[in-house]
Amino acid sequence: MVAESRSRISVIGTGYLGATHAACMAELGYEVLGVDVDQAKIDSLSAGRVPFYEPGLEEVLLRNIENGRLRFTADYDEATAFADIHFLCVGTPQRSDSNAADLSAVEAAVDSLASRLTGSAVIIGKSTVPVGTSSRLAARIAARIPAGAEVHLGWSPEFLREGFGVEDTLRPNRIVIGTDSPVVEAAMRELCAPQIDQGIPFMVTDLPTAELVKVSANAFLATKISFINAMAEVSEAAGADVIKLAEALSHDDRIGGKFLGPGLGFGGGCLPKDIRAFMARADELGVEPALSFLREVDAINQRRRARTVDIARGLIGGSFDGRTVGVLGAAFKPNSDDIRDSPALHVASAIAELGGVVTVYDPEALDRAKQEFPALRYAHSMLEAVRDAEVVLLLTEWAEFRDADPEELAKVVAEPRIVDGRNALDPQHWRARGWTYRALGRP
Ligand code: NAD
Repeated sequence: MVAESRSRISVIGTGYLGATHAACMAELGYEVLGVDVDQAKIDSLSAGRVPFYEPGLEEVLLRNIENGRLRFTADYDEATAFADIHFLCVGTPQRSDSNAADLSAVEAAVDSLASRLTGSAVIIGKSTVPVGTSSRLAARIAARIPAGAEVHLGWSPEFLREGFGVEDTLRPNRIVIGTDSPVVEAAMRELCAPQIDQGIPFMVTDLPTAELVKVSANAFLATKISFINAMAEVSEAAGADVIKLAEALSHDDRIGGKFLGPGLGFGGGCLPKDIRAFMARADELGVEPALSFLREVDAINQRRRARTVDIARGLIGGSFDGRTVGVLGAAFKPNSDDIRDSPALHVASAIAELGGVVTVYDPEALDRAKQEFPALRYAHSMLEAVRDAEVVLLLTEWAEFRDADPEELAKVVAEPRIVDGRNALDPQHWRARGWTYRALGRP
């Protein structure tokens, strides 16, 4: 699936999205220059080391550095001299003072690019942005480019899932490009030819529609998770079993079983901030009621975290003060070391604030967790984390935890009590081995 063209592209911003995009575009046959303002990240990527955990990415990175198709730099002059197609992959986190998206990195990146452009260039945004952003950026770019330069702008939202980044980038389930420029459309058709040839749907839309595709997809996924978690709340009150309920729902192919797993809810660097930024944008557009349901989606999600803390507290008699607690999981989901808005660390730190002596273990996210939550204790293995624990909480469903042996764990804990925050374990199996087992949404 290697492209025949030798197009040169730059990828601006080399975090989770950009590093994966850069390596995969090189894998498709293009010459790629990754650009970031973070020199440490550039040094690490240039040395063939992915500075985060993403299965399979390091192999693709190394292969393409070695074959000369992939390089990294912190120098924008190099980027504009090297390529005339630039992908924007910088971060768009939640603003610290509101629910809206912080677009300062996107604006800084287009400013850095625009002032250096000569001739005709294509800029394709991939970052998740509020609807309307690209039109504003087009005006911003037009005001900054030197005389004689010409910029064509498009927005191609990214749908990759952390943990499956390489696969999702090489074989996305659809490619969407928003643009009103035939130059952008032609460039994207050429760059995506290896994927279009495989039958991957390729859609051209206007700019606002493309921007909306991404945030509405995330709003839908978040809603589906919170829907089943709302059913978990009702199930807990009614003595029903939400796992059986979800299974029965999933057989209806209008509903489907994906994103219907009840538990501790969603987190990470995308869903929470994207639904909040979406609500903030709807407010600005004067259609706030259209998305008011997302406020409830967010609230249901937050309540699951509080409920997990309550279940654990109930199990040890009503107070965490001075009690030993073992936490399995720090990443926001398995197969990732991303701890942005991680439900696991939210719960762990809430318990520590209530006086619990909390020890956390995660197969990949410990370094990041230690930096962000230095007050928690950390262990280097599952057994070490649960040693002497009066209650254990499973908060990220890594395979290692799903496959844990309840007999082995029972030998080291103080009391065999577990809160399965992800409905990842077989309750009968654990109860039969002496554990007091509790989960969200189940009797
Ligand atoms: P990230 O924080 O991991 O990476 C962002 C990178 O941009 C950082 O390396 C940062 O140093 C760099 N940067 C900031 N300002 C810059 C500038 N002026 N010039 C060059 N580089 C700059 O974030 P991410 O998870 O990769 O997300 C990036 C965007 O992609 C966001 O809009 C996010 O919503 C979207 N997205 C992410 C994912 C995902 O799975 N992580 C999936 C789809 C979409």
